[in-house]
Amino acid sequence: MGEFDLIARYFKRPARRAVLGVGDDCALLQPRPGTQMAISTDMLVSGRHFFADTDPLRLGHKSLAVNLSDLAACGAQPVGFTLALSLPGVDEPWLAAFAQGLLALADAHDCELIGGDTTAGPLNICITVFGEVPVVDGRSQALLRSGAQPGDDIYVSGTLGDARLALDALLGKIVLSDAVLASARQRLEQPTPRLALGLALRGVASAALDVSDGLLGDLGHILQSSAVGATVDADVATSLIAARAISTRAGDQFSINLSEGDWRRLALSGGDDYELLFTAPAHRRDAVLAASRTSRTPVTRIGQINAAPGLQLINGQGQPLANTYTSFDHFA
Ligand code: ADP
Ligand code: MG
Repeated sequence: MGEFDLIARYFKRPARRAVLGVGDDCALLQPRPGTQMAISTDMLVSGRHFFADTDPLRLGHKSLAVNLSDLAACGAQPVGFTLALSLPGVDEPWLAAFAQGLLALADAHDCELIGGDTTAGPLNICITVFGEVPVVDGRSQALLRSGAQPGDDIYVSGTLGDARLALDALLGKIVLSDAVLASARQRLEQPTPRLALGLALRGVASAALDVSDGLLGDLGHILQSSAVGATVDADVATSLIAARAISTRAGDQFSINLSEGDWRRLALSGGDDYELLFTAPAHRRDAVLAASRTSRTPVTRIGQINAAPGLQLINGQGQPLANTYTSFDHFA
């Protein structure tokens, strides 16, 4: 099978929203009046972002999910995406499963594949997503990292730390029971982009991003962009590890091997969570709860923005904790 047959079989679908999709030199998108395009690219490299033998269906899902997560963090509605693929060879069952996982998530969010590039080489998946954000009275409704104000509450959606727990298990650093591994692995390999929450937070959140490299490190980006500081309750954040609740319920033995510090590290610097981390003024708490309800996405208040720079960690009793948590950095 040649390059063009491969594209035609697995990745070419009739354009719906796009003016022109796969098949010409460029795709054509027509932004709707009164909107801006939100654009983001994420690359997944075999052996670095995923194991080479990862289930291709899950890998297809994750490749798009991490990109859609960026749109969610901006409060953008997905429109379309391009797919640049470098493949070691033509493995049809692999391609069929990869396309299935990828396109199922694309369809779920009405985000069409409008083009890409296909080449031979080490397995590498690079996706660029395009989303739409309204402009109201000349002001973009995009959620940015730079809008956090002193006194704002800090929230995170969903769960934390489970993806990193699964990674540590797959790397052989820790042994998990089947039930706990299955649940954590789902979070690592099939993260849920929080698109509905991102949309619901337009006009409510003062700043937002998605947690990819670890909670505290990513919060640091908001603090830097907004020129503010923060206080975060480490115990509240640590309570958001889904696997911990499961293991406690099931009386699972593995949790004995993890210290409170291990759990904290998972929640605070685990990474690969793809949850939304956002801030909102304290007088908008009801609006945040409403956004959580309408998007059917749990959110938890984990701290507060301060005028003084720096990130203070406290425990549930309000006592200060040392912040020794580092986030993921490919070149550090
Ligand atoms: P060009 O040589 O002009 O760059 P290509 O031969 O690379 O064009 O691609 C032909 C068409 O197929 C283009 O419309 C391109 O966007 C699309 N395409 C290539 N690879 C993919 C892919 N992996 N997924 C979706 N569309 C693709
Ligand atoms: Mg090309």
